[in-house]
Amino acid sequence: MEETTKSLNFIEQIVEEDLQKGYSKDELRFRFPPEPNGYLHIGHASSICLNFGLGLRYDAPVNLRFDDTNPAKEEQAFVDAIKRDVEWLGFKWDTERYASDYFQQLYDWAVELIKKGKAYVDNQSSEEMARQKGTPTEPGTASPNRERSVEENLALFEAMKNGEFEEGSHVLRAKIDMGSSNMLMRDPIMYRILHKAHHRTNTDWCIYPMYDWTHGESDYIEQVSHSFCTLEFAMHRELYDWFLDQVYDVNKTRPKQREFARRNLSHTVVSKRKLAQLVEQNVVNGWDDPRMPTISGLRRRGYTPESIRNFADTIGIAKRENLIDVSLLEFHVREHLNKITPRVMGVLDPLKLVITNYPEGEEEWLEAENSPEDEALGYREIPFSRELYIEKDDFKEEANKKFFRLKLGGEVRLKNGYIIKAESCTKDTDGNIIEVQCTYDPKSRSGSGTPESLRRVKGTLHWVSIKHAIPAKIRLYDRLFLDESPDTHKDKDFMEFINPNSLEVITGYVEPSLKDAKVEERFQFQRMGYFCVDPDTTSDTLVFNKTVGLRDSWAKIQQKN
Ligand code: ATP
Ligand code: MG
Repeated sequence: MEETTKSLNFIEQIVEEDLQKGYSKDELRFRFPPEPNGYLHIGHASSICLNFGLGLRYDAPVNLRFDDTNPAKEEQAFVDAIKRDVEWLGFKWDTERYASDYFQQLYDWAVELIKKGKAYVDNQSSEEMARQKGTPTEPGTASPNRERSVEENLALFEAMKNGEFEEGSHVLRAKIDMGSSNMLMRDPIMYRILHKAHHRTNTDWCIYPMYDWTHGESDYIEQVSHSFCTLEFAMHRELYDWFLDQVYDVNKTRPKQREFARRNLSHTVVSKRKLAQLVEQNVVNGWDDPRMPTISGLRRRGYTPESIRNFADTIGIAKRENLIDVSLLEFHVREHLNKITPRVMGVLDPLKLVITNYPEGEEEWLEAENSPEDEALGYREIPFSRELYIEKDDFKEEANKKFFRLKLGGEVRLKNGYIIKAESCTKDTDGNIIEVQCTYDPKSRSGSGTPESLRRVKGTLHWVSIKHAIPAKIRLYDRLFLDESPDTHKDKDFMEFINPNSLEVITGYVEPSLKDAKVEERFQFQRMGYFCVDPDTTSDTLVFNKTVGLRDSWAKIQQKN
């Protein structure tokens, strides 16, 4: 019990307090309200984990509500991508809703407001209205249209709805308080004219409700008890409440808006608008490019839903914005992949190695354990032969004692195989090493039980048999932005910080057990990192994306603290 109390974040505390104050448990209802104008990103994952997490904690329904009030930016394709991503993250919504489901109800309520003298049609220019708005320290001035008669307002609003006016010529405004200290209360716009087809309501409407008018009323229609949004809406809360006051029936649940801090991740941007810019300007290859901080990009990169949820849980919910280092996200995926992935061997930068005392034309299949972390992953066989590839970095002609890899005269164990000794090497005319000649100890095979097989040597190298290896296209990624916080510079656009070398494509050589690897399957390439099969894979070319390296820089930072 104490455990749960201790781990309550401030949002959960709000819900707990409401329960103590008399809310009944079955009154609880939450929603996650994305606008379908782009793909979900890692910031949204926090909001998803928060809202759906509350649903699980209190066994309460959570709606997936599309906030689709701007047909200029929204598309069915984004709706589909959002649904796929929420599901992939492992959450189930109660009902799928759309703000557009409520267009008629919102219109009817707006007519009610006009009748009560609480809304009016304004046909001034937007510049004029902006001028009248005042400043945070000076009150605004009333529009000359503020005192139009109810009849005139009803007729104009209907004409707006019927498509008789041009875009931008008329708006419906709530009649609240031009002197309010909260600028948002100075007669905010409820409706604007947009002669654009909507992805669901097509051309049924040419007036579209604004966010503030839509959001709270949608929460109310769905009887959402707690509407959590990010801090930039804190000032909107007063308006949210004012709009609710106009329609609220005391016998119903009255939704309450509360705010939490937006999550920002280092070396990237988390804003659909900015991510859209990267897609449109072909900086990346689409919304699901593995360099993108989108859920789809992370999935393609090899992230697991668990790792993203664990990341969101670890950073938790905050009252203030701060920047989360991307290495924390990487820590979580590394931690999960370590538990679940089979180990395989792949050489990314090959150097040929010939075992001169191994008979030509011979091959044997060595048994290898798939994972020291999970016995259930079983064993596989890997081919061994006279000619192998090892990693270029793993050989030096001469090196000091700290170099535990292969050097002339030195010994290493080939993973799951034999102990070898480097005897000589061959160079090209430029002095580059192009081949290493070794001898092996035939009695030293791993797992064979001989005293030689148990002999310890300092280094173990991964390798592949050249004859059996499969060439694969391997994509290596670096951060998309060179700056930690690219969109916070006053004098520079975030696009100026794009890392020109965020993608490198190489040909690597992987062991033949990977021949039938499936899209999205994940592996640890021993000593190299975690890799995931990309959907660009074809029947003749395997394509891998590097998810993350093996090095654990975040844990090291943590240990130091
Ligand atoms: P963007 O600027 O990326 O479009 P948004 O807030 O406009 O973000 P919505 O689709 O309206 O995107 O967001 C759906 C929900 O996710 C909202 O409740 C919003 O507050 C929340 N959300 C969006 N971005 C973040 C973030 N970076 N951290 C936490 N929650 C977020
Ligand atoms: Mg938005």
